[in-house]
Amino acid sequence: MVWAARGGDVCSDERVKSVARQIRGYDPIELGERIERIVQDGSKRKYFRFRGSRFYGGSAVGDVVGCNLRCAFCWTGRARDDLSVGFFVEAEEAARKLISIAQARGYRIVRLSAGEPTIGWQHLIRLLEFLESQSYGKLFILETNGILLGAYPDRVAEIGGFRGIHVRVSLKACSPEWFKVLTGAKEESFWLPIRAIEELYSHNISFHFSIFAAFGSRECWESLLEEIARRTSYTVIGEVEVEALVLYSSSARRLRALERYGIRPDPKYVYKP
Ligand code: SF4
Repeated sequence: MVWAARGGDVCSDERVKSVARQIRGYDPIELGERIERIVQDGSKRKYFRFRGSRFYGGSAVGDVVGCNLRCAFCWTGRARDDLSVGFFVEAEEAARKLISIAQARGYRIVRLSAGEPTIGWQHLIRLLEFLESQSYGKLFILETNGILLGAYPDRVAEIGGFRGIHVRVSLKACSPEWFKVLTGAKEESFWLPIRAIEELYSHNISFHFSIFAAFGSRECWESLLEEIARRTSYTVIGEVEVEALVLYSSSARRLRALERYGIRPDPKYVYKP
């Protein structure tokens, strides 16, 4: 199992089902398409920052604007929902910036972060093409919530055509009800990232997935992992990453909305920066 015994759940899965019934739920595919029309212009995409980061032992990062989920624990600030922030960058220019940061600091990894990188598909593909054409010898990690990859399986096959790519799918919840409560999205969309994992597995693309263990019971997560193993293999489960809730000020502010339902994260999975 991926974690040791946990001491009592902060909110039961049963209570979450009742809270989920009170939420209408939005469609994250439709929201993603709407956001894409604003943050992408041809092969340009909106960013708000390029930087070096200590994650993955050091990585060059482009922080992108806009996401199609509304996670209650999200650390991304204004650039998640306010699409007026940031600046458009051509895919080639974004790739050059990432390579330059990675080379200057001796990093092996480049990635996009903050918002959802699969929003702005044309830009992403052009970026990958340019990186590949440079034979730059770095690894591009595509960090995604998996919604659009699950909705459009052809896109999974498309990224499978690139060398030097690894995909990290971040699972936000252990059940459709938890997904609705934590992200505000429709319950059915819970299955899209799972479908993305199935597609990645069947195309033999390098990937792993993370689980956001701060919410949901141990039984709930075990049951989801069993389901994923059934659809793929137990090897996939063996590589799971347990993601902690990092309590930045933006995350703490958003989490207050859940507190009125008595929903709080399990402190064992909360990290204060
Ligand atoms: S945590 Fe990630 S997927 Fe969730 S809203 Fe923030 S950027 Fe989007």
